[in-house]
Amino acid sequence: MNEAIQIFLTLQNYDIRFNELEQKSKNISKSIADLEMNIIQWDRKIAQEKEEVQNIKLEIQKLEKKVQTTEETLAASKYQLALTRHSKESGILTKKIEDEWLKMSQKEELLLGKMLELDTKETEFSTLLQTAQSAILKIQNEQKDQRQHITDLEKNKSEIQNKIMAIRNILQENHAHWLKYYDRIQGIKMPRIAELRSDNICGGCYLKLSNYNNQRVDSNFPFIICEFCGRMIVITAELSTT
Ligand SMILES: [Zn+2]
Repeated sequence: MNEAIQIFLTLQNYDIRFNELEQKSKNISKSIADLEMNIIQWDRKIAQEKEEVQNIKLEIQKLEKKVQTTEETLAASKYQLALTRHSKESGILTKKIEDEWLKMSQKEELLLGKMLELDTKETEFSTLLQTAQSAILKIQNEQKDQRQHITDLEKNKSEIQNKIMAIRNILQENHAHWLKYYDRIQGIKMPRIAELRSDNICGGCYLKLSNYNNQRVDSNFPFIICEFCGRMIVITAELSTT
């Protein structure tokens, strides 16, 4: 096969390899970002649960204050009752004490309920915290591995890039026209250089070339351009003689 074609095919192989590495690198970056999102979700969950615990604690504080106020009112009423001599006033105070007592026991019951709720919530929270911490640690380790993977890929990419540059320099010197064309068809899905298949079929788009014979370039440089997809078509020595 023509040496220039060999060089072009080598360039194409490196370009394909480079694109693959770049794609891999992108995918891993996305995966790292997804993992970061996971950590954020865990953090949110922790914050949310923590807030719930905090809210119950606040409710408990409020209830404790209410119980205390009621206790004080109750004590004051009892004191007043001890001092009063009038039976009518005594009756009113006794009723008030009963009411306050009832209120207090209701509040104490509420308080007890809240305390139990807090207990449950705190247990749940500490379980969540443990689960989250080990999950986050696992995610962070995974991210670390992936970052290392990206570093390796980048190194590999720069090595390939150097090879690509060297090959391009050679082609630029001797086959600038075709190199320019190769770059112009960048948007075409790889391979940009395809082989001519039997029966004049383009190896890239699998359509039959109608004017294959008219398009033939000299045998020193047997590329032709597919009239359908624009790919550079290699005519191997064997095929070009048929
Ligand atoms: Zn084609």
